[in-house]
Amino acid sequence: SDMIYNRLGSSGLQVSQFSFGSWVTFGNQVDVGLAKDQLAAAKEGGVNFFDNAEVYAGGESESIMGRAISELGWKRHEYVVSTKLFWGINGDMVNMKNTLNRKYLMQGIDGSLERLGLDFVDLVFCHRPDPHTPIEETVWAMSDMISQGKALYWGTSEWSADEIRAAWNIAERHHLHKPVMEQPQYNLLHRTKVEKEFARLYEDIGLGLTTWSPLASGILSGKYVDGIPEGSRGALEGYDFVKDSIADQEITAKVRQLVDLAAELDVTPAQLALAWTASNPHVSTVILGASSVDQVQENLKALDVIELVTTQVRERLEAIFA
Ligand code: NDP
Repeated sequence: SDMIYNRLGSSGLQVSQFSFGSWVTFGNQVDVGLAKDQLAAAKEGGVNFFDNAEVYAGGESESIMGRAISELGWKRHEYVVSTKLFWGINGDMVNMKNTLNRKYLMQGIDGSLERLGLDFVDLVFCHRPDPHTPIEETVWAMSDMISQGKALYWGTSEWSADEIRAAWNIAERHHLHKPVMEQPQYNLLHRTKVEKEFARLYEDIGLGLTTWSPLASGILSGKYVDGIPEGSRGALEGYDFVKDSIADQEITAKVRQLVDLAAELDVTPAQLALAWTASNPHVSTVILGASSVDQVQENLKALDVIELVTTQVRERLEAIFA
C-alpha cells in the first residue's frame, strides 16, 4: 500500500515510515551498481530518507551513496539524506577520533559532504555522546553547522535522555538550533531507551526518532534459528555481537515463537518485527538495512502488516519478548 509520512518529531520535515540505511552493506556487501538498484527500489516504494555515516566502511559508504544518487539523477528536493559524526576516519591523532569537539565536527562535515558530493545533508547526527567535550561546545558547533547551510537539522544517536535534554536546554537558552531527533536502536529485543528512558522527551521537547537495527541485524528475520546462512551478516568477519545473539538459546527460542506467530498471520517474521517497530507512534521512521533488492522489497511490504499489529497481536509479541 502507499507509504506513510511522519513529521520528524515536532519539526516540519516529513520522513517516510520506513527509510533505508547503508551500515555494514555499502562498501562491504553492496557496490555502486547494487546500491543504485536498492535505492531505486526503496524510492519506488515511497522511501524518502537515506541514512549514512562518516564511519561506515571508512567513508566508502558515503562515496557509494553519493555516486549512486548522482547516477540515478535524483533531484535534491526529492530525498532526505543524513550523516553522523563521532568516530572519525582520518587517523589516530588527537582531535581526529572519538570526539564531538568543534574542530573535529567542523572538518568532519566537510569530509562527508565531499564524499557524498553534496552541498548539504538534511540531517546530521552526533553519532555517540562524548563525555570529554562540554555539551555546550558541541551544541554551538552543531548549530553553527546549520547556520552555515551544511546541514538542515541536527540530532543525536545513542545519547542518554539527560544528555539530550541538556543539549536542548543549552540551545534554548542561547537561541541556537535545537536538536530535533535521536537515533536509538529499537527492536523487539531492545526496547528500554525508546519506551522508558525517553518517555518524557517526546512531549517536553518534541523529540523525533529515526530508529536503527529493526531486525537486530537480521536475527528477527528468523533465518538464524537453524544455523548461519552463507553470506549473511552472521557469517561476516567481526560482528561478534550478532554471532553471540545467534548462539543465545533464549533469544533463539523467542525468535522461533515469532516465526510461528508470523506464519499464523501469513506474513514473514521480518515483516512482523518491522511492523511492530513502526507501530510505536513515537518512531518517526524505521531505518531498514538490506543486502539485496529482494530484502528491500520484502521489508517495505511491512507497511501492510502494521494494521495486523492489533492489541492482541501486540500483547502476544510483547509476551514472547518480555
Ligand atoms: P536490521 O536490523 O534490519 O538488519 C539488516 C540486515 O538484516 C540486512 O543487511 C540483511 O543482512 C538482513 N535482512 C534484512 N532483511 C531481511 C529479510 N527480509 N530476510 C532475511 N534477512 C534480512 O538493520 P541494520 O542493522 O542494517 O540497521 C539499519 C540501519 O540503521 C543502518 O543501515 C544504519 O543506517 C542505521 N544504524 C545506525 C546505528 C547508529 O549507531 N546510529 C547503528 C546501526 C545501524 P544479511 O543479508 O547480510 O544477513
